[in-house]
Amino acid sequence: MIEEWLEQMKNQVNTLEELKKYINVSDDEREAIETLKTKWGTTPYFASLMDKDDPNCPIRKQVIPSLKEQINEYGMENYLVWKENRATEEIRPDSIARQYHDRVAFTVMQVCGIYCRHCFRKELVVDRDLQLNFDVEEGLAWIAEHPEIRDVLITGGDPLLLSDEKLEYLIAKLREMPHIEMIRIGSRLPIVLPHRITEGLKKAIGGFHHVPVWINTQCNHPKEITEKTAKAVYELMSCGINVGNQAVLLKGINDDVDTFRELHQKLLRTRIRPYYVFYCEPAPGIDHFRTPVEKGAELIRDALRGHTTGLAQPMYVLATNIGKIPLMPDYYIVDKNKKEYTVRNYKGEITKIPKMPD
Ligand code: SF4
Repeated sequence: MIEEWLEQMKNQVNTLEELKKYINVSDDEREAIETLKTKWGTTPYFASLMDKDDPNCPIRKQVIPSLKEQINEYGMENYLVWKENRATEEIRPDSIARQYHDRVAFTVMQVCGIYCRHCFRKELVVDRDLQLNFDVEEGLAWIAEHPEIRDVLITGGDPLLLSDEKLEYLIAKLREMPHIEMIRIGSRLPIVLPHRITEGLKKAIGGFHHVPVWINTQCNHPKEITEKTAKAVYELMSCGINVGNQAVLLKGINDDVDTFRELHQKLLRTRIRPYYVFYCEPAPGIDHFRTPVEKGAELIRDALRGHTTGLAQPMYVLATNIGKIPLMPDYYIVDKNKKEYTVRNYKGEITKIPKMPD
């Protein structure tokens, strides 16, 4: 019998007719689907979380194409080549993106469970303007020859859509390399297709091992978290895999104080550690999702820091071609002189502490 997750992938919702089974499609949504030549689609499970009547539903906005994608005033052309340093002199396979000395991103496939409208890899996985060759063997050979690499991020597309056998092979090959200390997998499936967390998957990538596997998922709105998500995360943890979240700050979806706080509290209730909130990157065609850079730091200040459990504090970062730039709120130190610091807390209260000489 075909596994449920494969059934979900086989029945991806990616036509107007299919979508109409889940929601009352608005005129704008219909026009975007009919006129834009863009790949889109979602698992039936994730589609079932959409609000039937509200075009502003955060799930609809992440999944259904928008006419606004044609506008590109602020996005950078060839964004991915810039962001992933693909035009540098170091010779690397297409599958290897490098921004740091000791870690790389290893892209193993281009297929996803849903095609996020805000994806910064849109040129590659959604629009397919960028053609790269993701040869897994070539990537593995490159990593084997680079002993300075200690941490590999397996990414895509969505790598958890590989079969159990392929994943087992990939993880085993990396674990065989003496310089690899940890493996990370970037996957939206715990959120958009929790059915993928099967006994077979757990056996393929989990278990006690000196090279641990960490999964970072992407959840941007509390509505994306269900009982199924919670069970999938528990199953991953039960075989030694920690799950973190890398949210994207998205205008009109999670850029208000209440939603931002609820998202981070609900992640913790689901045993997912809030790890990063990414500024929505300047990739082409996603201007309508982007806030000013300062917005994320303001939300950390106004929704999280001091307002809720310390564990619910992700790092807010700007991902660039020179690595991630943390952007934390800078309101803490109000003033300093030779003798003391004046500091402010999340409520705006002020206090003073002595300043140490250098
Ligand atoms: S799942 Fe990830 S790679 Fe795929 S479209 Fe969404 S953000 Fe992009």
